[in-house]
Amino acid sequence: MNNFAYQKAADTSDALHKVAQGTASSFIAGGTNLIDLWKYNLVHPENLIDINGLRDYKSINKTEDGGLLLGALVTNSATAYNEHIVEKYPLLSKAILAGASAQIRNSATNGGNLLQKTRCYYFYDAASPCNKREPGTGCPAKEGLNRMHAIVGYSEDCIAVFPSDMCVALAALEAVVNVNGPEGERKIPFEDFHRLPGNTPHIDNNLAKNELITSISLPKEGFAENYSYLKLRDRNSYAFALVSVATGIKLKDGKIEKIRIVLGGIAHKPWRVTEAEDFLIDKEANVDNFMAAAEIILKGAKGFGDNDFKIDLAKRAIVRNGMMALNPESQRPGAQPSL
Ligand SMILES: Cc1cc2nc3c(=O)[nH]c(=O)nc-3n(C[C@H](O)[C@H](O)[C@H](O)COP(=O)(O)OP(=O)(O)OC[C@H]3O[C@@H](n4cnc5c(N)ncnc54)[C@H](O)[C@@H]3O)c2cc1C
Repeated sequence: MNNFAYQKAADTSDALHKVAQGTASSFIAGGTNLIDLWKYNLVHPENLIDINGLRDYKSINKTEDGGLLLGALVTNSATAYNEHIVEKYPLLSKAILAGASAQIRNSATNGGNLLQKTRCYYFYDAASPCNKREPGTGCPAKEGLNRMHAIVGYSEDCIAVFPSDMCVALAALEAVVNVNGPEGERKIPFEDFHRLPGNTPHIDNNLAKNELITSISLPKEGFAENYSYLKLRDRNSYAFALVSVATGIKLKDGKIEKIRIVLGGIAHKPWRVTEAEDFLIDKEANVDNFMAAAEIILKGAKGFGDNDFKIDLAKRAIVRNGMMALNPESQRPGAQPSL
């Protein structure tokens, strides 16, 4: 049994002070990932800082620039059903509700969702080598079971994917992560928050040691008229994405004025290729153009055997989701996309 200290933080400075005590400190929010990792013997916190008492992090507020500020401790459920999110950022609501289960979403927080670990089988098996868990031990997934693994952005050292649904939508919305830490406050654009594995796959993101996520800023543009989140998985609920796509479109005179396409389940971070979005500007939103954009997005994609199917699946998902975004009503259960 591992002994650990448990402390409740009263406010931000108290949390930052407490987490700086000792080397094996960890914040805990909803606990839906951290406790699992602990039970699997993958993390060993000695100093647990409960941040659930930080009231300032528990609200969703409109901002002066027409955007929204999501508190880090608002639960995934409360975020998905918040009236402003439903009205202005339905893409985010849909992505959150595609993830986990109702019970988990009721506990899981927005900050914790950004920091959840990969679901690579080898990472979760403490008896197996894994460069992400223990740098230098190897990556058995490359020649092992890799159905759920990366097809783009991977490295020699790691082919794990980042499993979040919420973050795929946040990347499409160009959210900003607000943090506070030993060096003070700073803002991290969403595309810079998560990292590719390179030769440091044990570092998932650019949050510095002992930094606290305080909130997430959403810009004014929510793509509320033309959006879609498509999640393809082995079971229709309670399963992580094999491939997911978040698409937000602004149309003008029948042509694409602005578009965001971000994929989940295929890389170590939400996968966005701006070259494909640029290609679509001033073009008609149709199957041929979405397929051409999909070819750009998946350029250089490579599977490892079990996951080869993801390349074609991802292309088709981009096209299907683009067409569904033209008619968000098509996303209701039972409705057919207008392909
Ligand atoms: C069975 C199961 C199925 C799931 N399915 C899906 C799915 O389909 N899609 C999906 O997207 N997710 C899924 N999840 C993941 C779930 O969304 C995450 O576990 C959850 O969002 C994590 O939030 P939490 O508040 O519980 O984080 P915790 O477990 O409390 O913390 C996770 C990590 O974040 C750190 N942390 C938490 N908050 C902060 C903060 N404010 N600042 C700094 N560090 C912080 C903790 O120290 C810890 O390292 C699933 C989880 C489970 C258990």
